[in-house]
Amino acid sequence: MTHSHFSEFYKKTKVERIKALLDARVIQIEDALLLFENSQLTDQLANHMIENQLTQYSLPLGVALHFLIDNQTYQVPMVTEEPSVIAAASAAAKVIAQAGGFKTHLSERKMIGQVALKDIPDLAHALEELSLNKEIILKKANNAHPSIVKRGGGADEVEFRTIPATEHSPTFLVVHVHIDVLEAMGANIVNTMMEAIASYIETLTDGKVLMSILSNYATECLATATCQIPLSLLERGDYLGEEVRDAMIEASQFAYVDPYRATTHNKGIMNGIDAVVLASGNDWRAIEAGAHAYAARSGQYRSLSIWEKADNGDLKGSLTLPLPVGFVGGSIGIHPTAQFSQRLLSLKSAKELESVIVSVGLAQNFAALRALVTEGIQKGHMGLQAKSLAISAGASGNEIEHVANELKKQTHMNLETAISILDTIKN
Ligand code: NDP
Repeated sequence: MTHSHFSEFYKKTKVERIKALLDARVIQIEDALLLFENSQLTDQLANHMIENQLTQYSLPLGVALHFLIDNQTYQVPMVTEEPSVIAAASAAAKVIAQAGGFKTHLSERKMIGQVALKDIPDLAHALEELSLNKEIILKKANNAHPSIVKRGGGADEVEFRTIPATEHSPTFLVVHVHIDVLEAMGANIVNTMMEAIASYIETLTDGKVLMSILSNYATECLATATCQIPLSLLERGDYLGEEVRDAMIEASQFAYVDPYRATTHNKGIMNGIDAVVLASGNDWRAIEAGAHAYAARSGQYRSLSIWEKADNGDLKGSLTLPLPVGFVGGSIGIHPTAQFSQRLLSLKSAKELESVIVSVGLAQNFAALRALVTEGIQKGHMGLQAKSLAISAGASGNEIEHVANELKKQTHMNLETAISILDTIKN
């Protein structure tokens, strides 16, 4: 890949973009044809994926550029309906690449399965029995899914939690099993194992099993991305690098202490994360649920990322969240566009996908905070919003760009103005 292939990528036509990816050897000819075709799922596949299928719902897939992650360059597939997301991610990644790129750190990839019990007659005795029989619990769990054990994964740790009774709930005893799901997201693997151990756990505790299922609060599958940006790369218009750094740090502190801001701050991070999770064929609700639970781990909902001053005065950013995404399993293997996304990323493992996703989240956050503390978020947004308005007004082909450019010059950008601009152009 050379940068020349991608210069002013956003100004190219779709055909030119696909050609640029081909010329840069990021994609092969078969994938170029797939992109030209704009193909939907086959009816048979769509009908097989969900119940009561009627039609398909399309969203655009684009590519974010300039990502340098752990010294490797990535062209990142993103599926989103929000106009500014890919532009913001690419712009941020370009700055961060000049600063050495993202570095990532990943924990083990373990999922947690829960068996929740109630009506335990003797809690101390139940806990003792569970402790004494941990190995049997693990063996029963692994026997329920021997193929994951054969591959080198499986259940390997058991923990217990008691949740005291409140005025609204009884005492719960919860058995947690940690399971290495290797390259899968693991929901089905974990659920199978949990259901298989439920009756044995009931026998051990004399309690009643309420449910057996994985937890989407995947605290044993965390991904962190960091970056460090010198002041010279933070200068923007009339703003000095130092001013941008200090304001971004304050914006980060604000999001840490104020849940109203933290929610929007994290929504911006999820703009990037969801888009890649979706493109990769993974379960974005699982990632959303885990991310927001992690943001509230201190008891207060807080920002997922932190921006601070490095010892040498640079701006230092870091983002951590649970990222139990799969490289296999679910619909990944059967969805042709998810397969394309893996090829576009030259992806080799679920861990590598985690590194890409968490880096995109940090890039998105950098772009949003930098815009917020400098020119404001609307300038960039409205530029892209103008195109959407032009299309809504009925513009097509070259008219879209023309109407959008005229719209950007107006004080009030709305559909009515877009329609009247289009009328002027046409008449
Ligand atoms: P699958 O049920 O598709 O399981 C993945 C399978 O891939 C494994 O059973 C394994 O089968 C096979 N496999 C092949 N190679 C590997 C490898 N290297 N590492 C691991 N597995 C491998 O998917 P998951 O269990 O991952 O579950 C994900 C799906 O579950 C998603 O669609 C999700 O939406 C859904 N789901 C989510 C829930 C939640 O989040 N709460 C709840 C229920 C479902 P084998 O070893 O036998 O070949």
